[in-house]
Amino acid sequence: MIDNRHFYYQFILINRKTFIMIVMKTTIIKGKCIDYSTDGYGIIKQGKDIYFVSGLFLNEEAEVEFLYSRNGINYGKVKTLITKSSHRIVPKCPVCTACGGCQFQQLDYESELAFKTKKVKDTLKKIAHIDFDVKDTLGMKDPYYYRNKIQMPLGLDKKKKIISGFYKARSHEIVPIDECAIEDRRGGHILKSIKELMASFHIEPYDEDRRSGIIRHILIRTSKHYDEVMVVLVCNVDNFPSKNNFVKEIIKACPEITTVVENINTRDTNVILGEKERVLYGKGFIKDSLCGVNFKISAKSFYQINPEMTEILYSTAMSYANLNKDLTVFDAYSGIGTIGLIASKSVKEVLSVEIIKEACFDAKNNAKLNNFNNFTIINKDASVYASELASEKKSIDVLFMDPPRKGSDEIFLSSVLMLKPKIIIYISCDPATLSRDLITLTRAYDINIVQPVDLFPRTYHVETVVCLSLKQ
Ligand code: SAH
Repeated sequence: MIDNRHFYYQFILINRKTFIMIVMKTTIIKGKCIDYSTDGYGIIKQGKDIYFVSGLFLNEEAEVEFLYSRNGINYGKVKTLITKSSHRIVPKCPVCTACGGCQFQQLDYESELAFKTKKVKDTLKKIAHIDFDVKDTLGMKDPYYYRNKIQMPLGLDKKKKIISGFYKARSHEIVPIDECAIEDRRGGHILKSIKELMASFHIEPYDEDRRSGIIRHILIRTSKHYDEVMVVLVCNVDNFPSKNNFVKEIIKACPEITTVVENINTRDTNVILGEKERVLYGKGFIKDSLCGVNFKISAKSFYQINPEMTEILYSTAMSYANLNKDLTVFDAYSGIGTIGLIASKSVKEVLSVEIIKEACFDAKNNAKLNNFNNFTIINKDASVYASELASEKKSIDVLFMDPPRKGSDEIFLSSVLMLKPKIIIYISCDPATLSRDLITLTRAYDINIVQPVDLFPRTYHVETVVCLSLKQ
């Protein structure tokens, strides 16, 4: 049923300051949520039209206001909820609907985990035509306050008060947040103290439009296993005035901070960190441990953001690999070496490959830190290195592969088919690219286990571990 009642305004942005406003008629549709999209929208079907509605949950009926169309899909927001799901809960975060970081704050955790299991199963079927009995998603006991990395832009509100928060979806408008329900609780107090000290030291936050001001972002990294906290001040200028006293006061207000780093980013870009860095206090890194192995983490290191679930993810991956002291392991897309180093305790030799030079440097230091001398990391494109290993007929027993969201590529996968490791453990943060890559791998491999692990509670993201074994 379509019912045109109101008007709405559509803004077409010409540049940051200029826009055209068009007055349009609002379309209201009424319908029932029949499923979820992979990115957590509730789906309503109206004949041939599909509507993706944020904050609408399975079996709920609602009047929905049409917002915009993209790639043939209509996006809408709930105008009136007609029937409410019994799985709805009161969100912990008061700004969860404005912020856009979480999709499931208003739904109970069991239903979110069920969505994740189904998402992995449905994606495998749709993309790879693999109908597999996916295991139930492993979740957290308490799915809040887990993020060990907090990064917030700074700005001024209408009263010129310094605020930090997240950008509203598809905009650069900051939604102020004092304490985020999925971030380490230590972050709230640190952010508050830094903002207060900025005001008393007259340190202006960065203004994107004028390209003026000093501090653009605050990045906080926390350790789960050690009392160590890093603060990175991302600045628009190199060397701001009264920096040393400012840092002294930050440490006085927040003695839990063990290191402060200044990162200089003067570019007009959405990338948070700049190239240049300077340590202002402490060692310039923090230490954490995963599955009994210690890691040094610097401002730019890639490190999984949910330490509790990462330990579950890695120990699940290790248990599927059946490691022993006779085996040679290949760890591809290794970051700071986490998976390869955890495996190296149990095997003969580990070869790792990673494309980022700094991450390889961290991985080498981490091998030294733990006294592992059976671990080698190569700074190369994983596909180039895998094809080199294949042409020299290197014997590999187990492959761990943990590529970025875009997945692997044909050169890497065809080299793997030549290397023929007995076991492949594929760890993926995107079920779609995982499914695409499994089409190639299943030419020579059987899928034994598909285990989703919830590294990102309250959001639509899910990590998956797949165990494959070489066909007889
Ligand atoms: N296994 C690590 C990192 C996973 S993230 C961990 O669990 O912490 C994916 C990693 O792949 C990133 O470190 C990224 O820099 C790296 N990467 C991306 N493309 C690559 C490529 N073509 N070759 C090698 N490494 C790549």
